[in-house]
Amino acid sequence: MTDQPSKKKGPAARLERRDFIKKATAGTAVAAAGIAASTFPKPSLSQGRMKWRMQTTWPKNFPGLGTGANTLAEFIGKASDGRLTVEVFGGGEIVPAFETMDAVNSGTIEMGHGAPYYWKGKVAASQFIASVPFGLNPAEQNAWVQFGGGQELADKVYKEMGCKFFVSGNTGVQMGGWFNKEIHSVEDYKGLKMRIPGLGGEVVKAAGGNVVNLPGGEIPPALASGAIDATEWVGPYNDLAFGLYKSAKYYYYPGWHEPGTVLDNFVGLKAWEGLSSDLQAIIATANAYANLFVFNEFNANNNASLNTLVNDHKVVLKKFPDEVLDNLGGLSGKVVGDLAAADPLSREVMESIATFRKQSIAYAKISEQAFYNARGLPFKWVDL
Ligand code: CA
Repeated sequence: MTDQPSKKKGPAARLERRDFIKKATAGTAVAAAGIAASTFPKPSLSQGRMKWRMQTTWPKNFPGLGTGANTLAEFIGKASDGRLTVEVFGGGEIVPAFETMDAVNSGTIEMGHGAPYYWKGKVAASQFIASVPFGLNPAEQNAWVQFGGGQELADKVYKEMGCKFFVSGNTGVQMGGWFNKEIHSVEDYKGLKMRIPGLGGEVVKAAGGNVVNLPGGEIPPALASGAIDATEWVGPYNDLAFGLYKSAKYYYYPGWHEPGTVLDNFVGLKAWEGLSSDLQAIIATANAYANLFVFNEFNANNNASLNTLVNDHKVVLKKFPDEVLDNLGGLSGKVVGDLAAADPLSREVMESIATFRKQSIAYAKISEQAFYNARGLPFKWVDL
């Protein structure tokens, strides 16, 4: 914003204009030298109306994820009455999907949308904010962010990447993934070439798997070509849209590795700090709305999508044996604990989550868990 020419008149304005031209020329020189345009251009501002760009890590308009980003952008535009509009780009439209954070950090774009574990190579602690294997469910995750110190910790983590953090969606409990062989024991992960991100990927690696991370758009061809043997993505609603059933036979549950994965919206700190407080409040509120919107969209569509997968596409639905889950749980505890212990910021985040998880488990036993058990009893209910 500060690089825009001023409308002031007189000598001061001339000086400012000259300064602007100097900066603009410098920017061109930088671009001509082939250096990433990290300092120029700044957000365009016309008559008090700002236009931002947001790239997602998702394919554009992808159900739940891409549409969640669209919802966020639409809300910001409407609530600000057009004072701030956000144009949404799919992964790869401006930079490759996994370079979205770099593009925001450098100021090439103002906003990004993805999932925190995609940035674990930059700041290791980010993967703990996404979701922890056998950790918090979506409601608990949201409560941790809002009341358990999660927002402050996430802001601390994202500050290291030059960004302000917002939760911008939750996938709900995910599915365990797509396999072409049955999983009878944890040994069956040995040598398995699987796409699985974040801490779940670290656990599968510890179980002997050959783990890769791929952005969403690259998963279906990799599975179809046999470049990977197995993959997880999200849940029935998203997995059906990707057509993963075409290349894998068994669909396992539950998604022990991602019990409530957070989508992140990250705003370049300079862009964020340059906003008026009302626009900041609008972005925060837009994210709170998008968080609920995304979660509701998954919840509303998952079961019908699962029925389509099983009935129309003959997918074989399988539950991981308890023994496998028990082994993966123990392995998760060790892997996650070791990773947290190796890095001070990760440890700080993980200690907070572990404390919150303890109280969540205690209360869930007499609330949600008890209710699910009660609702599952074989009584006859309303039958219209
Ligand atoms: Ca996933």
